[in-house]
Amino acid sequence: MGACFSGSIPHHTFNKGPAHQRSALRSHSVSASSPSTAAPPPPLDGSDLTNRLPPELWNLILSFLYPSQLTRVARVNRRLYHLINNLGLWTTIHTKTFPQEPLLLLPNVPPSTCYTLFICASSLLICEQCFHHCKDAQNYFYTLERWLRGGSFFIPLPVWLPWANASIRLCFNCRKSHFEQHPEPIPNSFKGKRLCLTMVRERLYLSDEEIIQVKRFGCGPGGYKFCAEDALMTARTIYGGDIGIATVEKPFPELLGRSENRTYGYHKRRKIMEAGGTWQHIAE
Ligand SMILES: [Zn+2]
Repeated sequence: MGACFSGSIPHHTFNKGPAHQRSALRSHSVSASSPSTAAPPPPLDGSDLTNRLPPELWNLILSFLYPSQLTRVARVNRRLYHLINNLGLWTTIHTKTFPQEPLLLLPNVPPSTCYTLFICASSLLICEQCFHHCKDAQNYFYTLERWLRGGSFFIPLPVWLPWANASIRLCFNCRKSHFEQHPEPIPNSFKGKRLCLTMVRERLYLSDEEIIQVKRFGCGPGGYKFCAEDALMTARTIYGGDIGIATVEKPFPELLGRSENRTYGYHKRRKIMEAGGTWQHIAE
């Protein structure tokens, strides 16, 4: 799971899983891959703390975690790696994000491992909440002006979820609904302040049509002054929170290219293995 979902997690709190939002995820995660396709589990070692819980209980615990959290827990030891690798979640995500594209499996590798590898390789463009694949974000570029802003705010961006104690990649729509329920605080630098037209354009990336919606004050010698809080809230709505505003000038095609390189790596590995190569050949 080298190439995986990104985000930062200081520490895990299993008992804070967002159960009310995770029912779909949980139901898929608990049902691990069928025994016929799963690799045999590593031998039990009584000295390992993780062996004190049966797999069923681990699967239940893991079902409360988001994909980026799972990929980090998988690095703890072989047993957790094996358990997470065999969760049905990865196949479920693939079915949802690529319904028309059955995965070409790596030869002599368990299907569950193939799905895990491919989904982790695609993770830059997959929302961890709704599993939407955001490659089609370019369809949102309905104006040249919107294209010039970069467009990266349409892809999944890391958002801090207090109840998960983690940063999770959320798509534009999931970010918007998240911030409606959990509004971001207004920074002191915006509270009760006024901004000039240039600041609203260059700091918050609002177009002239959008600026018209912002509460403004009388036109003085220096032109109109705009309510900083209202301008910020307008920009947050348009770009999906502060993280979206911060991403405005980052080019979308570059991020798309990075993701495609990673999925290309999976298929390159498959071709090498089909030609008789091994994992060692790929690493060389
Ligand atoms: Zn989403």
